[in-house]
Amino acid sequence: MSHALPTGSHLRYEDHRLQLEAVDLGALAVQYGTPLFVYSKSAMLEALGAYQTGFKGRKAQICYAMKANSSLAILQVFAQAGCGFDIVSAGELARALAAGADPQTIIFSGVGKTRAEMWAALSAGIGCFNVESVAELDVLNDVALSFGERAPISLRVNPDVDPKTHPYISTGLKGNKFGIAHDEVIDTYKKAASYPGLRVVGIDCHIGSQITDSEPYLDAADRMLDLVDAIEAAGIALHHLDFGGGLGIDYAGDTPPSADALWAQLFAKLDARGYGDRQIMIEPGRSLVGNAGVCLTEVLYLKPGEDKNFCIVDAAMNDLPRPTLYQAYHSIVPVAIDGTTPPVTCDVVGPICESGDWLGRDRTLAVKAGDHLAVLSAGAYSMSMASNYNSRNRPAELLVEGDTHHLIRERDRTEEQWANERLL
Ligand SMILES: *Cc1c(COP(=O)(O)O)cnc(C)c1O
Repeated sequence: MSHALPTGSHLRYEDHRLQLEAVDLGALAVQYGTPLFVYSKSAMLEALGAYQTGFKGRKAQICYAMKANSSLAILQVFAQAGCGFDIVSAGELARALAAGADPQTIIFSGVGKTRAEMWAALSAGIGCFNVESVAELDVLNDVALSFGERAPISLRVNPDVDPKTHPYISTGLKGNKFGIAHDEVIDTYKKAASYPGLRVVGIDCHIGSQITDSEPYLDAADRMLDLVDAIEAAGIALHHLDFGGGLGIDYAGDTPPSADALWAQLFAKLDARGYGDRQIMIEPGRSLVGNAGVCLTEVLYLKPGEDKNFCIVDAAMNDLPRPTLYQAYHSIVPVAIDGTTPPVTCDVVGPICESGDWLGRDRTLAVKAGDHLAVLSAGAYSMSMASNYNSRNRPAELLVEGDTHHLIRERDRTEEQWANERLL
């Protein structure tokens, strides 16, 4: 059996054993135990490099949307490569600063920022607040006045384009909670510009996630530039234009445009409309880390059934929430191909007491108990969404660099899970 490995993953089979860069994944599974996340530093830097190529000769800042994977060492890799960060909470702010981020390159997104979070971000001196409602504008103005500084802001506009992705990860349509509605944008900018506690610096949009087509981006860019024309005609200058994140990755033969190809198209549009020399910002998450990571897991039991066969593994929905949350597809491949075990079609499921605890359905796998599997494309929205449900310890994480690896997070310890709890 052959197993397709996703584009940009830096995975390959060598002598029927799966390698990430030049490291043998089976050996790591034995050494550190499973479930175990393993990331490739080269895969991350290569994904970032595609954006950097697209921005060559332009004024641009890449702000990694750190909710995709907020482990400190990963933030450090991106900070050292010149990235800023798109944050959505005070916790993410603290993590970014702890990883060495330049506060000026941090932008703060999200519909529900609290006063305490605004204060923390002003104290840190972040580059921009992406404001999502008029009510938030009022509160930020108030907080900034008591803080004694003007808060730099962008409005997140809702361009009302359909990115044709899963409804839970589509954010730029009229009917969802994100951004300022298209026909209220000009009035809201006028209002923002009149507030003594605010300083308008830009405009922002983010239309969704796992977008595998250029068209929604080009449509959104047109609609956003129409707004920029109108906002500037009203006398409000915009220093930067932020096109959000959302570029998809190859989970199952998906073919999203490469970041440099997408940006060549977007810059052609920006140049044609006279905005080619503006400061550009983007907020990619998944496309920087998604295919840089795998989750290794051990087969515990094979359970044949009349209707379905099950392959029960030691990773579960608490470690890898995307399948149960979004019906997402992750490729699952053997860590070693032995050629003697007969293949079966099975559902790959975890030990958690929920029928929703599955990682893959109807997969053909030639494995036996004790073998290791790799769940692919697990660098984004996996460990950052992991929980301790069923009182399971979250996995350890490793970062591979060439033929070496670094332990970047130890496996949770059970006592830590209840460290903040009190008996009566
Ligand atoms: C989640 C998010 C991103 C990143 O999305 P990806 O699909 O991971 O690239 C960028 N901007 C905002 C505002 C977000 O909420």
